Amino acid sequence: MADPRDHDFETVLYRHVTPDIVRVSMNRVETRNSQNTQLTYDLNAAFDRANADDQVKVIILAGEGPHFSSGHDMKGGPRAFQGVGTWQNYGAKGAEGPMAVEEEIYLQMCRRWRNIPKPMLAEVQGACIAGGLMLAWVCDIIVASDDARFRDLVVGWGIPGVEFFGHPWELGHRRAREVLYTGDWFTAQEAHQWGMVNHVVPRAELRQYTEEMAKKIADKPLFGLKLTKEAINQTLDAQGQWSAMQTVFVMHTLAHTHWREVNGNGAALYQGESAPKAPGRS
Ligand code: ZN
Repeated sequence: MADPRDHDFETVLYRHVTPDIVRVSMNRVETRNSQNTQLTYDLNAAFDRANADDQVKVIILAGEGPHFSSGHDMKGGPRAFQGVGTWQNYGAKGAEGPMAVEEEIYLQMCRRWRNIPKPMLAEVQGACIAGGLMLAWVCDIIVASDDARFRDLVVGWGIPGVEFFGHPWELGHRRAREVLYTGDWFTAQEAHQWGMVNHVVPRAELRQYTEEMAKKIADKPLFGLKLTKEAINQTLDAQGQWSAMQTVFVMHTLAHTHWREVNGNGAALYQGESAPKAPGRS
């Protein structure tokens, strides 16, 4: 039965599992849920809607279709940026404009979602590539199906990892180095072993498993959940996570600028981050 608070965004479905659990699902199946600007702002609006609704206690982030997310897509969508970031001079020449854009739609957006005070569960199936990792990482808990696989291949474009640099925290620094240097896929089982994924379940049970966990969480008092989430976020920040991410983001921007100067084409760069293959790979 549909909940009257359900909503269809252009690229995101907002559906109540129960009155206090919302499933926010990316709905660009034809592009394997690649993240264009429209999807970014739709996700942001959906999370805001869930956060503002006092009845909602838990948010599930999912992807429609066979794949969770194929990563960033700079080829489409509106370019009317909304000012979530702080740099904001989106059209500026040189490094400034692209830095402002990526600060807005990737770094600060992910930071904002990571800090949504209600528990968020990622429900991941199929491919989760580069920018797709950031979407899973901003959630509190990651449940993956046994067919889920992950990779960040952007070192192939001379970039030290995706904009929200969670790799050392999510994988441990040894695995982070290997995953980034090689650009290889890693499986749900490996991600689980390394601590990035909470549970691996059969594909057919993924949705039900995630929803059952969400129900268990939704039994707890909301303020207690918010304080617990904040306690963990504050601990990671005290360990230097956000400080490191901001520093690495500047290096990320340097890498883009360098690539543009050497290769002469910014568009190739942006398309590269969502492309299926890195240069020199078969
Ligand atoms: Zn970038």
